[in-house]
Amino acid sequence: MVDAAVARTVSILGATGSVGASTLDLVKRANGAYRVEAVTAHTNVAGLAKAARDVGARFAAIGDPSRYDDLKQALDGAGIVCGAGREALDEAAQRPSDWIMAAIVGTAGLSPTLAAVRRGAIVALANKEALVCAGALFMQEARRSGSTILPVDSEHNAIHQVFDYARIDAVERLILTASGGPFRQASLAEMRDATPEQAVAHPNWSMGAKISVDSATMMNKGLEVIEACHLFPVGQERIEIVVHPESIVHGMVEYVDGSVLAQLGAPDMRTPIAYTLAWPDRAAGPSPRLDLAEIGSISFCSPDFGRFPALGLARSALVAGGRSPVVLNAANEIAVRGFLDGAIGFLDIVDAVEETLERMGPGRAESLEDIAAIDLEARRCSRAIVSRPAR
Ligand code: NDP
Repeated sequence: MVDAAVARTVSILGATGSVGASTLDLVKRANGAYRVEAVTAHTNVAGLAKAARDVGARFAAIGDPSRYDDLKQALDGAGIVCGAGREALDEAAQRPSDWIMAAIVGTAGLSPTLAAVRRGAIVALANKEALVCAGALFMQEARRSGSTILPVDSEHNAIHQVFDYARIDAVERLILTASGGPFRQASLAEMRDATPEQAVAHPNWSMGAKISVDSATMMNKGLEVIEACHLFPVGQERIEIVVHPESIVHGMVEYVDGSVLAQLGAPDMRTPIAYTLAWPDRAAGPSPRLDLAEIGSISFCSPDFGRFPALGLARSALVAGGRSPVVLNAANEIAVRGFLDGAIGFLDIVDAVEETLERMGPGRAESLEDIAAIDLEARRCSRAIVSRPAR
């Protein structure tokens, strides 16, 4: 158990989001086991100021520079240093903390997360875009700086808990579970008419809007395969997906002797976050406990690659490598936004991503600068597709 007398210093990037709120909840419940160095948000000044005051953070950064004065005012008298803009997000990541939660959504999280990796922090990585777009760079920088990357995504967190890093050659398969999302049993006609409200209503998990839509298209699982490929170097052909609607088993590792090790838990993000927060120790967490006798039975089936083409598209982007995963991710962010804003239908999301990938073609992506330029170009291309009249 973590010794409450020895405070671990932590920072939370994306403190006003769904993962950020769960992290703050754990920190507040831990009775001083953690001292908070920095918290960040994008536009939500009130939420950021409340979070900073609640946990006594030393630094609060708002990504949108036009909100700086509002933040200063909201934190007046609290003795908390304020910052704004991208540099302030990087500064939040660079300030000394033992542990950092990287929970900014989207590619905006890349630069601050990389800053935390480069200074050798323990990085609890929720921002999957970092690995999808720049996985090789992140893993290389982590090896160089000695940073430990702990996956927060429940599937990767599960695999991390049962993955034998000392015997990678004994791993036969990684199995990521997928709930199947709200449209697991929907017909294509029903999916064509799906509204944003239906798409964000995830059956098991409470998450931000973007990742909820990704769960509905199953692009989230596609992104997770790319993420897993960087975190666990077994080769993409050994990473499989199985649909498991109850979200009880989060991930599995099959070894060459036929043993399958799995991590189970209630679908509550505070379990994987608590694991990373206390790592390499264990600390008490508030998540509901599993009552297997009450659950009675759980089920598994193969994913439907026909109704969920995002799975095949993401796998192809992974195999193509280079700029393809960056394009996939950027095009998807724009298409999801377009869907949430009512510009395109649900099935148009993956079509728009596919068209962007076709238009842009393959290519290299090595530095963060390359990735930023490709990301920008893919967004422009996807935006043109999404805003095209009469799809
Ligand atoms: P939310 O949308 O709930 O929160 C996003 C956070 O990022 C907010 O604090 C938001 O600030 C901040 N933010 C958004 N845009 C920017 C920007 N341009 N610059 C700086 N900060 C920004 O997301 P989630 O918490 O759901 O997800 C966060 C990350 O974790 C994502 O990458 C997601 O894929 C991943 N993840 C999430 C899971 C979940 O259960 N929610 C599970 C596994 C992974 P503001 O509030 O001011 O907009």
